Amino acid sequence: MSHRTDIEIARAARKRPIQEIGARLGIPAEDLIPYGHDKAKVGQGFIASLRDRPDGKLILVTAINPTPAGEGKTTTTVGLGDGLNRIGKRAVVCIREASLGPNFGMKGGAAGGGMAQVVPMEDMNLHFTGDFHAITAAHNLLSAMIDNHIHWGNALDIDQRRVVWRRVMDMNDRALRDVVVSLGGVANGFPRQTGFDITVASEVMAILCLARDLGDLEARLGEIVVAYRRDRTPVRCRDLKADGAMAVLLRDAMQPNLVQTLENTPAFVHGGPFANIAHGCNSVIATTTALKLGEYVVTEAGFGADLGAEKFFDIKCRKAGLTPAAAVIVATVRALKMNGGVARADLGAEDVEAVRRGCPNLGRHVANVKGFGVPVVVAINHFAGDTEAEIEAVRAYAAEQGAEAILCRHWAEGSAGIEDLARKVVELAEGGGGNFAPLYPDAMPLMEKIETIARRIYHAGEVVADKAVREQLRAWEAEGHGHLPVCMAKTPYSFSTDPGLRGAPTGHVVPVREVRLSAGAGFVVAICGEIMTMPGLPRVPAAETIRLNAAGQIEGLF
Ligand code: ADP
Ligand code: MG
Repeated sequence: MSHRTDIEIARAARKRPIQEIGARLGIPAEDLIPYGHDKAKVGQGFIASLRDRPDGKLILVTAINPTPAGEGKTTTTVGLGDGLNRIGKRAVVCIREASLGPNFGMKGGAAGGGMAQVVPMEDMNLHFTGDFHAITAAHNLLSAMIDNHIHWGNALDIDQRRVVWRRVMDMNDRALRDVVVSLGGVANGFPRQTGFDITVASEVMAILCLARDLGDLEARLGEIVVAYRRDRTPVRCRDLKADGAMAVLLRDAMQPNLVQTLENTPAFVHGGPFANIAHGCNSVIATTTALKLGEYVVTEAGFGADLGAEKFFDIKCRKAGLTPAAAVIVATVRALKMNGGVARADLGAEDVEAVRRGCPNLGRHVANVKGFGVPVVVAINHFAGDTEAEIEAVRAYAAEQGAEAILCRHWAEGSAGIEDLARKVVELAEGGGGNFAPLYPDAMPLMEKIETIARRIYHAGEVVADKAVREQLRAWEAEGHGHLPVCMAKTPYSFSTDPGLRGAPTGHVVPVREVRLSAGAGFVVAICGEIMTMPGLPRVPAAETIRLNAAGQIEGLF
């Protein structure tokens, strides 16, 4: 049992040189582009050379609806990768990169926790290999080219009131949510209102994460709709001729980053799209590369299974042709108690009844993931205060739902604490019980796709949408976008659109307030409730206690 902070554990890691980690996967040293001693990008040529190899087995780690108590998906993803290696399977971990801004607010790190972490965690949570900076630059190049085009005569006839492409920055800065640009006179262009989103909310991020290769990347960038004309016809990135230069800025960022876990398991950390207005999983190129190199690839999808797993299956797997072999649903006693109505302050006391009351949330996720034809196991991520009776209540409930729930102690013990789960995952993945299929066919009309997700996954009674929303969806269908999957943007805290409605609500109403087209990424976003694309900092930001110590090491990050 460890009493050290995550950063202290990470600093003490016995890291192997990154070439050695690459060699374990059969990556020749010359195909690694090292960023220091413990990070490297994998060369595009090597990735292309893997095309005809067979794929390993893809394991998704997802969770019940998250609560502020924390579920531990990343921690379990990393722990399971280590656990699979421990039982003799060549495993690779695939997770998202961290957004820099939220580290200075209140969020924890994105590298896992305790004895199940990816290292170097300070780098990963800060500038890492510069991918997010490249995405920021590519995005803002396009922004600059739009205003520049208007300044020099607006040959494309862009309606300045209908420019939908904003600017981005990787910082939590609420002051930039709504701004007026081009003030200060004729030389500075035509003033107009716009705003900033955080970099992970950029469509460029979603595109980088869904593109198969550099050619596909450039083609998707070209498809981005940046504005509309007065006659409502779209103006695309390609019309402004920005796609080529953006692809140049993104060339290195498209290459997956290889690092390692505390136990030296290879880990690809690449891409990090928002999980609300985007699909919330690491890059397709990292996942497909890992599948060529490992027997098992363990990956994570953001938020609970209602959002994360659904988008992983219906957007990422559908578009990249991936077939998940099994899914792990992470549950914690604390979060189940909160789903059972216990206040955060009272989580310390044993409350078996509250655990039981919260369990239907778990049950719904188990049934939903099974509904995709993916075999399921529940991982109980053990926290120090959990009692045997509480854990037994989860086990018994899961068994009634036809899923085994396995206690995992990877946070405290590393791979030794998660062997049982690793064995079960292998049994499921090799048992041939899977029969994966997305929830809806490409050909289904867009509104029906939204209704299908709301009814089948959220158990909603009804979807309501204004005439304007319905007409917009029909217009996109007429323009040839009807085959796209839908990316739902709603609260992660509930199956419903009300964050306070815990457990497993039924018959609720899902209001679709707005729809957005991400033509480059390749999905239609359905916004159900308030969605924040530029976070702010809390009253006392974590930045106040982050500093360098006398040895030049980072203190206070986590
Ligand atoms: P998610 O990926 O679901 O958002 P993380 O794996 O990032 O969750 O974990 C969230 C936080 O909870 C991290 O700070 C992690 O160290 C902590 N955590 C995870 N599992 C445990 C555990 N079993 N005991 C104590 N802390 C944990
Ligand atoms: Mg996570």
